[in-house]
Amino acid sequence: MIKKQKLILLFLISFFSLFESNVHCSNTDTEKEICRSLFSNADIISDKFENPSHYKIYSIDKNSKKETLIGIAFLTTDLAPDIYGYGGKIKIIVGVDASNSIVGTKLISHSETPSFTKNFPNLLDQFAGKDISGNFKLGEDIDGITGATISSAAVTNAINESLEPIKALLLGIEAANIKKKATNIPFRKTFIPIFIFLLGFLSVFLRRTYLSKITMLLSLIYFGLLANSMLSTSHFSDLLLLKIPSFEHNTIMFILLFLTIPSCIILGRVYCCNICPFAAIQEMLFSFSKKAGIKTKNVNKELEYKAQNTKYIILFTLLFICIMFNRPYIGSIEPYITFFSLMGSKLAWLLLSFVLFSSIFYFRFWCRFFCPTGAFLGLLSKFNFFGFILSADSKDCSNVCPVRAIKYTDKNIAKINSSECILCQKCSTFCKK
Ligand code: SF4
Ligand code: SF4
Repeated sequence: MIKKQKLILLFLISFFSLFESNVHCSNTDTEKEICRSLFSNADIISDKFENPSHYKIYSIDKNSKKETLIGIAFLTTDLAPDIYGYGGKIKIIVGVDASNSIVGTKLISHSETPSFTKNFPNLLDQFAGKDISGNFKLGEDIDGITGATISSAAVTNAINESLEPIKALLLGIEAANIKKKATNIPFRKTFIPIFIFLLGFLSVFLRRTYLSKITMLLSLIYFGLLANSMLSTSHFSDLLLLKIPSFEHNTIMFILLFLTIPSCIILGRVYCCNICPFAAIQEMLFSFSKKAGIKTKNVNKELEYKAQNTKYIILFTLLFICIMFNRPYIGSIEPYITFFSLMGSKLAWLLLSFVLFSSIFYFRFWCRFFCPTGAFLGLLSKFNFFGFILSADSKDCSNVCPVRAIKYTDKNIAKINSSECILCQKCSTFCKK
């Protein structure tokens, strides 16, 4: 029996890993060897100095045998330990020569989705030759990887922040002064996501469906198409592993996470109602198909109640794997990541195609049966304070609910399952309490 369970676990780990093959970079080279590879004329690599942590690189004159300091190298994770990408820390070695220019950068390890990071070399190559006195700006000095905004920002921020103490060491620039400049967070990264979220929250609280539709559209444009920021199971595994995204370097994700969690506890799945950009895509597909006269499908009621549990099984399996193996990025299996980033493994594309195709016939196909993020938010929403309440004499509302969140108890009392409810407000019109 135990053997069987082990085999199932092994299968699940291999299956989810297929989404993210080749994630871990080779770590066989020592840090010193990598430092050496950045400097063509390096002969001696010192031991690691502290405050700030760095290696000194020397060349030796063949005739006089004199040692000359030709540069230094440092690890971003030593000097900017709080910067996380999508799935965790990104470890890069940066070499700076005697003229205070970056000679090169080398990626040591990361926990990002590999399909996002296959272009990391192109991103890192852009730092070579740049003077260290300024702050590198993504989109101006450095071109990010399309569809991998968070990873690109994490790389740029990690290099910027770890250069601060190095500047203080090499240029005598006050590290604190530089830090002040670096903490300027653009208005669009704070005001817009907060505004959209509050609009979504208000639309549910006041039960205004037109406001909800407007929020959905704004979210699709901002979170989906422009910012490419959506919650994923990897974020919840990060949280459970006590890895909190930095507000400074991961502002949109920080706002999304810390507005979504309390909103679930207060009102229910506001995020799933109108903030998640993939909700808009699925609903658009379904409504287009209806308008085009395509026959949409209904799952048998009892079967659907059972099938809803699939997403919880996926959630717990993913959380178990992410936490046990300390690999939160494995949680990023959701098809919306592939949809909005336009990147993914073959399996991820296959899953996306299947989900999009099924969404033509079934309302919110992915949300209802498979989404682990929705399942996590559903658990948080289980005992929300101000959710929808139906009275005992409500009409038969269970067919009104598009996600079968309404069930009748043995005493024929209509009850809403807050974990499944996506706050679409249909029952507030048809089944007044
Ligand atoms: S269930 Fe998943 S895909 Fe659906 S709206 Fe919620 S987070 Fe988005
Ligand atoms: S119809 Fe269903 S999903 Fe919509 S608000 Fe009512 S219970 Fe929730």
